[in-house]
Amino acid sequence: MGETSLTAWIVAVAFVLLIVVPGSIVVLSLGPLWWLVVGLAVAAVLVYRHSRRTDDGSAESTGPARTNCVNCGARTDIDADACSYCGDTLGE
Ligand SMILES: [Zn+2]
Repeated sequence: MGETSLTAWIVAVAFVLLIVVPGSIVVLSLGPLWWLVVGLAVAAVLVYRHSRRTDDGSAESTGPARTNCVNCGARTDIDADACSYCGDTLGE
C-alpha cells in the first residue's frame, strides 16, 4: 500500500512539474492578449448558452391562449369567465 501511495505522489508531482508549471509559464508569458482571447472565448460561450436558453423558453413566454370575444371582438383569455371589455360571457 505504501508503494501505491508513493507512486501516486510521484505521478502528482510529475504532473505539476511537467504540465502545470510549464503551462502557467506559457500562459503568463503570452501576456494580456492571451487573457483577452480567453475572456472573449468564455464570454462567447456564456452568451451562446444564454441565447440558447432564451430561445428554448420563448415558447413558454407566449402566455395563455387568447381568443376574440364573440360579442365585441376584444382579445381576451380563452379560459376567462367573461370578456374583460364588455362583460359578455364567453363560449356560451
Ligand atoms: Zn367582449
